[in-house]
Amino acid sequence: MGVTKAVLGEPAIARAMIEGGVKFIADSRIENIQRMKLAGISTRFVLLRTSPSKAETIVENADISLNSQLETLEQLSFYARKKKLNHQVIIMVELGDLREGVLPYDLSLFIKKILSLSNIQMVGIGCNLACYGGIKPEHKKMTELSEIAATLEKEFELDLEIISGGNSANYDWYKSTRNVGRINNLRLGESILLGLETANRNPIPHLHTGAFKLISEVIESRKKPSLPYGETCQDAFGNTPGFIDRGIRERGILALGKQDIQPSGLFPENNLEILGVSSDHIIFDNEEQKYKTGDEVRFDLNYGGLLAAMTSPFIHKKLIESHKN
Ligand SMILES: *Cc1c(COP(=O)(O)O)cnc(C)c1O
Repeated sequence: MGVTKAVLGEPAIARAMIEGGVKFIADSRIENIQRMKLAGISTRFVLLRTSPSKAETIVENADISLNSQLETLEQLSFYARKKKLNHQVIIMVELGDLREGVLPYDLSLFIKKILSLSNIQMVGIGCNLACYGGIKPEHKKMTELSEIAATLEKEFELDLEIISGGNSANYDWYKSTRNVGRINNLRLGESILLGLETANRNPIPHLHTGAFKLISEVIESRKKPSLPYGETCQDAFGNTPGFIDRGIRERGILALGKQDIQPSGLFPENNLEILGVSSDHIIFDNEEQKYKTGDEVRFDLNYGGLLAAMTSPFIHKKLIESHKN
């Protein structure tokens, strides 16, 4: 499954993922799935995060949703029946990362209940690791999920189509395992978009890690003292900042700020040193690089940076198609 949430379901990127071979497009926001459907994308759409209040739109727009709550499944069943639709579900299993999922020893009773819901078809199980608790998707966890799949299939005489082992953090396990067991699916966002596995943020061989660039404009540059002067008070975000006196230096300002992005998500070219960020301005040391007003400064982005930049309505998105080689 190609995961498009970090790019807000940008249809061109979803299309590229499908051309690249993914069998499903998955997103955490139903609005993004609606956007891709409106753009004419045809695939099996998977909703990664399911809210009961959105059950009606979910059964209308997603083919499959990931679930772990009976209340939500009852809502999905209600609207699916009302609209004469069939909605497929993957049940998430908790394996220790402590985000979503039914605990393994509660599964039997849980599945017994959902199998009785009309217009709901259970097509698989899945787990999610390395998100909240930083728990590694390794051999033991994957074997556990495989065993759970086999046990449930036997107990309920099911044939589960999808056993979804995780996300981009599963890359090392997948590359090193000699036996994937019953796992036949991963949900991949960051590894496709940024070319990184996410257990250690190592680049994946042969993938581009710089497919996204954020370009910003210099709006001021001049020599100023490095120490603010006058009586001190709080800054724009309620902090009382501290500074080191480095004498008079060339300082630049970029038209980009916290409303668009967190500085931790930005990796500037030329080792540019960011001095501070307010809502709408990034202040940087320009002593060495000597950028002039109107110059462009480029940034690589991490996943958080990509997510924020794609979400900011003030950042213009330009897609450049490169020719296949
Ligand atoms: C976001 C998400 C993914 C994709 O994670 P990546 O680290 O980007 O591969 C997979 N599964 C679920 C449930 C998610 O919410």
